[in-house]
Amino acid sequence: MAQVAVVTGASSGIGAATARALAGDGFHVVLGARRVERLEGLAGELGGEALGLDVTDPGSVKAFCSRLEGCEVLVNNAGGALGLDPLAEADEEQWRRMYETNVLGTMRMTRALLPRLFESGDGHIIVVTSIAGFESYRGGAGYIAAKHAQRSLARNLRLELLGQPVRVTEVAPGMVETEFSLVRFGGDEEAAQRVYQGMTPLSADDVAECIRWAVAQPAHVNVDEIVVRPRDQATATEVYRQGGSPGQ
Ligand code: NAP
Repeated sequence: MAQVAVVTGASSGIGAATARALAGDGFHVVLGARRVERLEGLAGELGGEALGLDVTDPGSVKAFCSRLEGCEVLVNNAGGALGLDPLAEADEEQWRRMYETNVLGTMRMTRALLPRLFESGDGHIIVVTSIAGFESYRGGAGYIAAKHAQRSLARNLRLELLGQPVRVTEVAPGMVETEFSLVRFGGDEEAAQRVYQGMTPLSADDVAECIRWAVAQPAHVNVDEIVVRPRDQATATEVYRQGGSPGQ
């Protein structure tokens, strides 16, 4: 029987690309996100399963996990940023949602699936954080705080799981062209496009390949973290743009 890989946030971007990459390596993929209709098309294509999932809702996490027979790989990818306001104008609801999705969502999914990961005898937890997990940029405080917390969670988990047959890998990307910026700017396509203007960002497939590679290593090899950025990006704020158009 094929090993099972659960991918959260698989309805677009990095999650969808990761599901494709892991299915390509022979995993039975179980896709979770709120937009189930999107998941269904992809699951059909990959011979996987599509299950509705809202990682901010404990009941939804429980229902999702109760449908799984086993789990070898958990990719905690669901997440993202909301807004780019300075802290002086912070929107509490946006901060709360970012923390709920990126941090508590990762905690809930991991806590729920740890017993199955142990049972598998060779489990692997991937946590998709960001360079925002260890860098700062103006207007990013809410997202940055959440990603710092999510990164800490991954590092702590590695300590707590020492001696257990479960690996923990953090994947921290720089700029990736997905729906990330569209969500961050509340559906403003022009603002989202400006983020990638004049530079070549990573694609979702680039990040998915990092995840696939880490998972493909032998069971005794734990790739602790992968930081992956576009060649055009040196830090969160230093971005090379042809024509010298706007910075980060
Ligand atoms: P994306 O295209 O917007 O994908 C985000 C995914 O998360 C969607 O599938 C979305 O699905 C899902 N999601 C959001 N809230 C959810 C919830 N409450 N429950 C379940 N699923 C939820 O953005 P992406 O770039 O692929 O982002 C994936 C991860 O990479 C995020 O953790 C993000 O912080 C991280 N990241 C992105 C970048 C970048 O530049 N793109 C850089 C560094 C890190 P539904 O809306 O259908 O639920």
